Amino acid sequence: MVDRVNSNFAYHKTSTIVDTSAESQPVWFSSEDISDADESLLFPLFQDSFKQWAKESAALASFENGEFALFNKEGEEVAATGQYRDGREIRNAVLMTAVSRALSGGEVSINGTEELFVAAVPVHRRNDGAVFGVFTYLSTNGSRIELEQLLGCSLHFHSCFYHMFEQIYVKDLLLQQRRAEKEADRRNALFQAAKRLYDQIDVSSVLSELLLSLEMLFPSSEVDLYLSQDHLNGDPRVKPLVFKNAEHDLVAKAFLNGKSVTEHDRDGTLRLAVPMTGKQAAYGVLRMSIGPGKWDEADLPAFLLLADTSGSAFENAKLYEQSNLLINELRLINELTKRLNQSLRLKEIFQFASSELLTIFDADFCCVLQLNKEKNQFVVMSSNFPALASEHFSPDYGFCGMVYRTKEPLIISDYWHTRVVTSKLMDNTSSRSLIAAPILVDGEVVGVILVTHKAPNFFSYENYKLLQVMSTHIGLAVTNASLHAEVRRMVITDNLTGLHARHYLNEQIQNRQRKDPFGSLILVDIDLFKRVNDTFGHQVGDRILIQVSDIIRSSIRHGDIAARWGGEELAVYLPGIRAEQAYRIAERIRLQVEKDTDPVVTVSCGVSEWTFEDEKVSVESLFYRADMALYEAKHNGRNCIFVGQN
Ligand code: GH3
Ligand code: MG
Ligand code: MG
Repeated sequence: MVDRVNSNFAYHKTSTIVDTSAESQPVWFSSEDISDADESLLFPLFQDSFKQWAKESAALASFENGEFALFNKEGEEVAATGQYRDGREIRNAVLMTAVSRALSGGEVSINGTEELFVAAVPVHRRNDGAVFGVFTYLSTNGSRIELEQLLGCSLHFHSCFYHMFEQIYVKDLLLQQRRAEKEADRRNALFQAAKRLYDQIDVSSVLSELLLSLEMLFPSSEVDLYLSQDHLNGDPRVKPLVFKNAEHDLVAKAFLNGKSVTEHDRDGTLRLAVPMTGKQAAYGVLRMSIGPGKWDEADLPAFLLLADTSGSAFENAKLYEQSNLLINELRLINELTKRLNQSLRLKEIFQFASSELLTIFDADFCCVLQLNKEKNQFVVMSSNFPALASEHFSPDYGFCGMVYRTKEPLIISDYWHTRVVTSKLMDNTSSRSLIAAPILVDGEVVGVILVTHKAPNFFSYENYKLLQVMSTHIGLAVTNASLHAEVRRMVITDNLTGLHARHYLNEQIQNRQRKDPFGSLILVDIDLFKRVNDTFGHQVGDRILIQVSDIIRSSIRHGDIAARWGGEELAVYLPGIRAEQAYRIAERIRLQVEKDTDPVVTVSCGVSEWTFEDEKVSVESLFYRADMALYEAKHNGRNCIFVGQN
């Protein structure tokens, strides 16, 4: 306790930061009586209590004739009732002798000369009786005082002294109690703040909670938070940590050294920068500035503790967020793979990717474009901004063009400030933040993903990296879908002629028979083909087959389906066409073959039709009737067309 008194006193004397509010006055005495340690505190108490005694004893006759004085334990005069008039040296010597004798416990009266009279009595401490001062009387006119009377005076002084001491002591006690209460309040507030901080699981809430707690705990301060990692929560007090001039910058210094740094302005404003660190890294710096006289040094531990707690809470929230991002990423990849098994359509993949990206990044808009190599343009495959659906862009336009050229992802924190290119997506949606990534297949850009938000600085570096990872997976999905499409094309196509395969024709006719009211089939068979082979060889035979196929292909319309039905038998299905018209088409083919083949061959055709009125509609019956008609054509001299009857 004694130490505490001393340290408080030392603080009071030397510190330049003094809180002027009553609560933070230093405590003077901490035990029920004065102690040796209180020495330096006694001076004003001695003076005040001596003054009080003198006021109450002014009527004494001795006041007229002599002077009373009080000396401390060191034999130094502390207070006196008047000015000593003369005989100073002799008096001093005699007085000091009396004082030192009284200090060692005796009571004395001395006649110096005829005129000089000195008397001294010790003043005792209440608890242990130790001498802590000397009460003296001195006259230079020969008048005397009885020791008894001086003892009375000193006792009176003694009670004045202790009365005042007690007043101070009680005041001190109250002060101490108030302080303890305040301390308890502060601790409680701090505990609550720490608890609330740890309750937060997202980074933004940790930051908001921290600023709120600081506002509550240090109402007269201004607090800013500088973050080394880009994380914005909309509060203007949260700022990015920029290293401009580290030597002069308090915040940068605190961050780099990992220690708190204080600075006093000329006007007495205190600036305090405390790093906000977790177990793995430093995340930023809390900077507080507080006006002159408003800061209590005792608040420092609380501030440091809060900075520390918020560092850990920030780290926890950050890790939680990261693991959430990771989970989302894995979930997306998982979903994408699942979708691949369900559907291999490119359009579906793009749509799914776009809706997932919107959710994952909490973005406002997403646009997925595919490069159409033949037309050399990007086509919007999927977008939640309807005005852009199926839009076409030149491959050097906008951000899409940038990604196409660089094959790299990009991040734009504020389009309004860094308008590197003009972007229809950004302009039409009033977006300010953007992350974009290429969809690469075998190292070539086949598409571009654009994800935007209306707020500036919305996407983090982590978002940007994640989009990059996801675009790789989308690229894989696109590769798979393209491969699948290619395999499918190969399966339904005849190798030699490039016409469709027989099973594909069957499927298609079956489909159309469910939807259409009618349709026709032409079977085309090369006449005496065996002879062609025998005469010119199989290779020439093959060439003829290709020639006839090409003629068929060029004689029909887009929706018609030509296929290789058997060896040298070809078939054409004409949806929504009646037999009469089919006959004319067959005739066109027949004439063309006779005219254009080399060596010249002819073909015979069998035509059949079906209508919804037929008793039984089937692919088999359609073929059967066409085959019958073909048979007839062969029997009627070849190079002609017969229509099968229902
Ligand atoms: P027609 O139809 O006029 O009655 O006489 P054809 O000689 O064409 O009749 P057939 O059905 O007996 O013979 C078909 C011939 O077509 C048999 C085969 O050598 C030939 N052929 C079938 N597929 C191919 C092929 O892919 N390439 C070649 N070069 N010949 C083929
Ligand atoms: Mg044949
Ligand atoms: Mg034939």
